[in-house]
This record gives sequence, C-alpha cells and structure tokens, in this order.
Amino acid sequence: MSVLVLESSHFPSDTLSTHFFRGDGLVRGLAEIGALEQALDTGAPRLTREYFYLGGQPEPDVNPPQEPGEVGFCLSVRRETLDALVADRVAALPGVDFRTGTKAVDLLRQDGAVAGVRDATGQVHTAPVTVGADGRRSSVARWVDAGVEQCHSAARVMYYRYFAGWTGPDGGPIDGPEFSLNGNELAYVFPSDRGTACVALTVPLEHDNEGAAATPEFFLSRLEEHRGLWPRIEAAEPLGKIFIGPPQDSVIRQAAGPGWALVGDAGTYQDPWTGFGMDTAARQAEALAEVVTSDPSDWNDAYATARDGVTLDRFTMTVTIAPDLRRMLG
Ligand SMILES: Cc1cc2nc3c(=O)[nH]c(=O)nc-3n(C[C@H](O)[C@H](O)[C@H](O)COP(=O)(O)OP(=O)(O)OC[C@H]3O[C@@H](n4cnc5c(N)ncnc54)[C@H](O)[C@@H]3O)c2cc1C
Repeated sequence: MSVLVLESSHFPSDTLSTHFFRGDGLVRGLAEIGALEQALDTGAPRLTREYFYLGGQPEPDVNPPQEPGEVGFCLSVRRETLDALVADRVAALPGVDFRTGTKAVDLLRQDGAVAGVRDATGQVHTAPVTVGADGRRSSVARWVDAGVEQCHSAARVMYYRYFAGWTGPDGGPIDGPEFSLNGNELAYVFPSDRGTACVALTVPLEHDNEGAAATPEFFLSRLEEHRGLWPRIEAAEPLGKIFIGPPQDSVIRQAAGPGWALVGDAGTYQDPWTGFGMDTAARQAEALAEVVTSDPSDWNDAYATARDGVTLDRFTMTVTIAPDLRRMLG
C-alpha cells in the first residue's frame, strides 16, 4: 500500500511528554521500521531492570523490566530526539510520502464515507483509508464525530525536568528506570538519550492550583520526600525548565467508521502516570496495518476489536488506580 503522511510540525519538534517505553511496545515498533539502532545510537541506555522504592525508603527492590518482549529491555528517548529519528526513518520507507509542515484542515467525503483530507494549502488527498493519528485534541475525531465510549475524570498532574550527571543507585550502572512511591505520589527517573535523565513526579489533583504549584520549590520539596532518589537529584545538574502535564480526562473514542480510523491519543487518551501512551499508539498502529492489509474492503470491526485488545487492559488499570496510587500495592 502507499501511505501519505501529513504532519503539521517540522522536526525536530518537542512535545509535552515523558518518554519511557517498553520492549514489547514501542521498542518493537522501532525495530520493525528499522529505527532501533538509531535510537540506541543516541546513547539512551538499555533499561534491563527497574528499581522500585516504597514509602520513601532509601533502598530499592530490583525488578525485571516491564513487558520486555523479545528485545528484553525498555528505553527512554526524549521526544525531540525520538520523533525526529522516527520521522526520518518513516520518510525513507518505500511507498511512504511524508510531508512535514502540512496541516490537514478538512475531510473529503463520498457516499457517506470519509474519502481523504484537504490540507491547509487547499490540496486534496484522496485515500480509501484516512487515519487520524493527530493526538489528544484530534481534529479527525472531531470531524467524524467519533462517539465517546469511556470518559474518566482527570485525577492527577505530572511535573518533569531534565538533569545531567545522573548516577545509578549506589553509584552503579545506569540500567533501569527508578520509581518511588510515597503515599499517593510517584516519582520517576528515566535515564535517557545523550546523558540526560528525565525526573518526573505525579501528584493527585488537589496539588494542582492553576500552575501555582509548578514552581521549582514545590517540585523539589515533593521530590525531597523520595529518599532513594533525592541525594542523586540534588547532586545532578538541572537542565531547563520544569514542564507540567496538566490534569486531563482519560477518554476512549470509537475506533473506526466508514473510511476512517483513529490511532494513538486521537482515539484513546489515558492519564500518563503509567506511561503507556506511546506503547499503546505503536500497538494500535500495528493492529490497524494488519487488519487493513489483510482485508482492505472490510476492516472496521476487526480494527475496533484489535484496538481494544491491545488497549483496554492497560487503560483500565491506569484509570482505576489513578485516583490513589496506593491501590497498586493491592
Ligand atoms: C506529561 C505527559 C507524560 C507522558 N509520559 C509518557 C511516557 O513516559 N511514556 C509513554 O509511552 N507515554 C507518555 N505520555 C503519553 C504520550 O505522550 C502520548 O500517548 C503519545 O504522544 C501519543 O502519540 P500520538 O502519535 O497518538 O499523538 P502525538 O504524539 O500527540 O502526535 C500527534 C501528531 O499529529 C500532528 N497533528 C495534529 N493535528 C494535525 C493536523 N491537523 N494535520 C497534520 N498533523 C497534525 C501533531 O503535530 C503531532 O505530531 C505522556 C503524556 C503526557 C502529557
């Protein structure tokens, strides 16, 4: 099949997101499109284990990596780095026409089905399948009026900042993400590309007061309670500003309709505390490619089933535990 990708941004381009992903999710997706070596060339360490600190304790439990798949490791690559290398690789694939700086502004319709898009220059692009992979505020979802199948009220806020000079637990190797659960707050460290570490914190909604809590003092005062991480955070060099992921409802929309499908956040957006969004987007893309190529004339229901199959368990876990992370302890 030939694929036309319309992307409104130019790369490199950052997006509001931490970027931990798993072997059996986006790491596999990168391997499939031949971009895994480039991702590793950025210096992002193979995350072959993980460290979990409970109740602010200074010593971690050491666990295997989450959903390691065949490759056996997870990764964390900053989006500015990752999105650019994925875009380059996809643009080089046979049958792909990748156009950046090109915004879709409207749908084409024929006989009650979506038949392509119009871009901001007025050019029309016809296609038997139009995929809305245009993120949480998806225009495609709005234009097709995709039904909302689930909506769960926002429960949390996430803060994150980059640091240089991160060191592993006890001065050991940097070979895993670190998670520290203290009450209803979870702190994360994702060792990432080019020697950076992404330090994040998710707090319940009551801490969000229109961004006033998003000061370095607030972020650092909460992290101070995570004793397994704090001495190393204090010793590391902060890079740039603190980012805030504001509270957002978790939503599942109808997966597909005549001539259209939604992939990634466009169709399923979940609170980022579990960091499942990028893996889910990759799995949904695989699922859609499989059903469309196996029967190009009749794939809607098959995609809806396949999409839910690779999405619902993790989505349900995410939204069920989100109001109080102590629930993850059973
Ligand atoms: C604070 C925070 C932390 C997170 N942490 C993690 C994490 O650690 N791990 C993880 O897996 N996930 C995480 N996520 C979730 C993750 O960011 C998303 O699930 C993921 O980016 C979804 O990918 P997507 O391709 O569906 O959408 P996006 O990444 O939003 O991409 C959509 C693309 O569509 C383009 N676009 C939009 N409209 C148009 C248009 N009209 N025409 C052309 N192009 C258009 C945009 O420019 C963009 O490039 C986090 C999210 C947040 C907010």
